[in-house]
Amino acid sequence: MKQNNRLLGPWRRRLQWAFTLLLLGLPWLEVNGKSLLRIDIPELRLFLFGQVLRIEELYLVLLFTLIFILGFLLVTVVFGRVWCGWFCPQTTLSDVAEWMARHLGLKVRHHKLHGSLWSKVLLQGGYLLLAALVASNLLWYFIPPRLYFVRLFAFDLHYASWITLGVTGLIVYLDLALVRRMMCRDFCPYGRFQTALVDKSTLTLHLPETELEHCIECSSCVRTCPMGIDIRHGYQVECINCGRCLDACRKVMEKRNRPGLIRYTFGLHGESVKGLLNPRTLLIGLAMLALLVILSIALVERPAASLKVAVSHTVPSRELADGRMGTFFNAWVNNRSQETTVYTLHARQKDSGGALPLKGQVRAEMGAGENRRLDFVLVAPNAEPLTVEFVLVDGDGQELSVAEAYVGITHSK
Ligand code: SF4
Ligand code: SF4
Repeated sequence: MKQNNRLLGPWRRRLQWAFTLLLLGLPWLEVNGKSLLRIDIPELRLFLFGQVLRIEELYLVLLFTLIFILGFLLVTVVFGRVWCGWFCPQTTLSDVAEWMARHLGLKVRHHKLHGSLWSKVLLQGGYLLLAALVASNLLWYFIPPRLYFVRLFAFDLHYASWITLGVTGLIVYLDLALVRRMMCRDFCPYGRFQTALVDKSTLTLHLPETELEHCIECSSCVRTCPMGIDIRHGYQVECINCGRCLDACRKVMEKRNRPGLIRYTFGLHGESVKGLLNPRTLLIGLAMLALLVILSIALVERPAASLKVAVSHTVPSRELADGRMGTFFNAWVNNRSQETTVYTLHARQKDSGGALPLKGQVRAEMGAGENRRLDFVLVAPNAEPLTVEFVLVDGDGQELSVAEAYVGITHSK
C-alpha cells in the first residue's frame, strides 16, 4: 500500500481506547496513597495529581479549569472538530453500541437497527451493562473505586450515590438506545459553538475541487459515514472529523493505484498551517501560557500548612481569679504536605511580639492532607482589647502559617 493510502482508522481506534481507558482508570490511580483525580464531597477537598486542595483553595481549581478551557479552544482552532471524532466519549459510546449491534447480526442504517428481535433484546442488555459502567465510572470520581464496590455490594451507598447511579445510568441507556449520533448532529452545543471558533486555516477534512474529476461516484465515502454526510458536497457542520470517509476513499483508490481523494488540510483553499499564526490563536496561546505560569507559581508558593482561627461562639470569654482574661478559640489546621507532621500553636501580641500563653489542644500530629479542629484557650494579661497573632510551627520550629484575631471584642478575622 502506498504511503499516502495509510488508513487512519486503526490510529483513531487506538486513541479512542487510550482515552477511554484513561477516563475509566484515572480514579483507580494513586500518588502517595491519594487518588490522582477525585472530589471528596464530605471533606470538601479535591485530589488533583498528588495535591490535596481544600475548598478555600478553589482559586487553584479555577485556574486549572481556565487553562483546560483555553487548551480546548486552542485545539479546536487548530484541529477543528477532531475532539468529536477521535476522543469524545459520546462518539466512543455510539461506536461501541454500533459495534455490539453488528456483532449481534444487526444492520445499522441511518441511526436505525435492522435484524431479529432476539438480537435487539440482547443489544438492550449490552446497553444496560454499558450504562452501568459509565454511571459507576462517574461515581469513582467521588468515591474511591474499591470502597464504591464494597458499598455497592453491601447495598450501603449513600442515597445521593444511588440517585446519581440510577439517573446517570438511565440517561446513558436512553442515549445508547435512542439518541447516539443524533446527539452530535442535532443537540451537542460544542458542534455549533465550534463553527464560530474555526479559522480559515483550521484542519479540515474535505474533497478538494481539483480531485472531483477523479471521483468514480462509488459512494463508499457516503456509506461509511456515521453521520450520513456526503462529503462530496463540501464541508458540513455535522461532520465529526472521524476520517472514515477518507479511509473508504483510500481503499477504493488503492485498487486504481491512486492516492485517496479526500484529504485533511489546514484550510479549505490551501491556506496551510502558517495561517494559524494570527492574533486570535496567539492570544489564546499566550493567555494559556500566562495562566500556566501563574498556576505553577501558586503551587510552588503554596504553604505546607494552613491555619484559620476564630473565637469560640459557644464558650464565652471569662475573667480568671487573678484578673487575667481567658478567651476560647477554635483553630482549623490543614496539613498540605505529603508527610505526617507535628504542629504546635503559639500566640503573641501583634504590637509588642510578647508571647501569650495557650492552654488546651495546641499540639497535634497530623497525617498528609489531614484537616483538624483544635480547641484551646488564650490567656491575656487583662480584659483590654488586643490583637493576637497565632503562629503554626512545625517540628523544626519553622513558622508555616500566621492567623490574626482580636480579643476583648466580639469578632475575629
Ligand atoms: S464526512 Fe467523513 S469525517 Fe465527517 S463524519 Fe462523515 S465519515 Fe466522518
Ligand atoms: S469514496 Fe472517493 S471515489 Fe468513491 S464516491 Fe467517495 S470521493 Fe468519490
